[in-house]
Amino acid sequence: MIMPILKYGAPELKTVSEPITVFDRELETIARNMTETLYCAPGIGLAAPQIGLNIRLSTIDLTVGEDPSQLIVICNPEIVLAEGEQRSEEGCLSVPEFTDTVTRPRRMRIRGQNIHGEPVQYEAGDLLARCFSHEIDHLNGILFIDRLSSLKKTLIRNKIKKLAKAGSW
Ligand SMILES: [Zn+2]
Repeated sequence: MIMPILKYGAPELKTVSEPITVFDRELETIARNMTETLYCAPGIGLAAPQIGLNIRLSTIDLTVGEDPSQLIVICNPEIVLAEGEQRSEEGCLSVPEFTDTVTRPRRMRIRGQNIHGEPVQYEAGDLLARCFSHEIDHLNGILFIDRLSSLKKTLIRNKIKKLAKAGSW
């Protein structure tokens, strides 16, 4: 099922999400819905708070469904190691139409659990490292615009306020 994606302004996007402790059918359904929503958007990463669920679950697929073997469904992701730096243009399905340059680690080691609760670990570089960093931020109630300078952040916020006033946010 394709779920509506919450936009900047929704309180769920500012909330620190809860760890997942129960790995059941319901969780599998949520993950499947998130994957379908991600591919439909289309996007390369989606975190549960973006569909209004404050649980530590994220789906990532750099191929946007082109290669199903590349799909990552991760529960309770944690950063074990973060190295280097990369600066690149970034956007977010919850902040549509806006992009800006965000600094992220170049390499990351991520550990977490798969949908069955089994431990998993990923060595991520470049775009995948950026994506993990962005998704883990979501689980901590942080959006990419929170990582911009206060001036840029204010500019984007004001534009969004205008859009919201016009009923187009
Ligand atoms: Zn995002």
